Amino acid sequence: MRKLIAGNWKMNGSHAQAVALLTSLSQKIADENLGEKTDICVCPPFPYLSLTAEKLETLKAAQSIALGAQDCSAWGQQGAFTGDVSAAMLSDIGCRYVILGHSERRGYYNESSLGVAEKIRLAHEAGLIAILCVGETQAERDACVQDSTVVAQLRESIPPCASSENLVIAYEPVWAIGTGKTAKPADVEAMHALIRRFLQEKLDKCAGSRILYGGSVKAENARELFAIANVDGALVGGASLKEDQFLDIIRAAL
Ligand code: PEP
Repeated sequence: MRKLIAGNWKMNGSHAQAVALLTSLSQKIADENLGEKTDICVCPPFPYLSLTAEKLETLKAAQSIALGAQDCSAWGQQGAFTGDVSAAMLSDIGCRYVILGHSERRGYYNESSLGVAEKIRLAHEAGLIAILCVGETQAERDACVQDSTVVAQLRESIPPCASSENLVIAYEPVWAIGTGKTAKPADVEAMHALIRRFLQEKLDKCAGSRILYGGSVKAENARELFAIANVDGALVGGASLKEDQFLDIIRAAL
């Protein structure tokens, strides 16, 4: 399966840094033809989305780098929802992907899986590909309930409109995000196999969805992770802000 490498910039950077990173990334991706065999996506903060969309149009690797957002509204596509950004707006400015259900949003904003399902429905209505994040906390792993936790998140977060074409799953153990700790290869393999089985048995339309791994992915561990069965790419946080790291992760996926 063609791998997807998605960079989640989170709430980092500035206007100038966004342009500089994208310009340089794009140049190298074009020079090495990295987009030929891998799908690449960057997800800047909302204020820089339009800017990066416009910038991408002028760059050599424009076709190879897709734009994604880090969230969208659960309330609709237009209306009196102060502070919200709708999936339709993201689509309108050129986004192809949107990350939904990230553990930081589930944790800091109390997002429920049912709320995430509504966001995914709206994302699909707007023609976006949703990257649904699931994963257990350290306490859940310690209690050996990681499998039931992830299966419950999948069952509740995926709406009926989802298919292999418009849904990507990102397995992100919460304890591995931004901590430098990566899940053991055997644990990644087991969880990705469980997710694939769940999709095949319960959501046939999503049986071919890509399953990304996320959680302290960096240049040094990417190759080992990508060699694991059912690891179809990575959702990369911190390392996606470092050009050399992000490029090496993309190279490891070829
Ligand atoms: C993330 O935020 O989705 C993530 C995986 O972060 P990091 O790579 O920094 O652990």
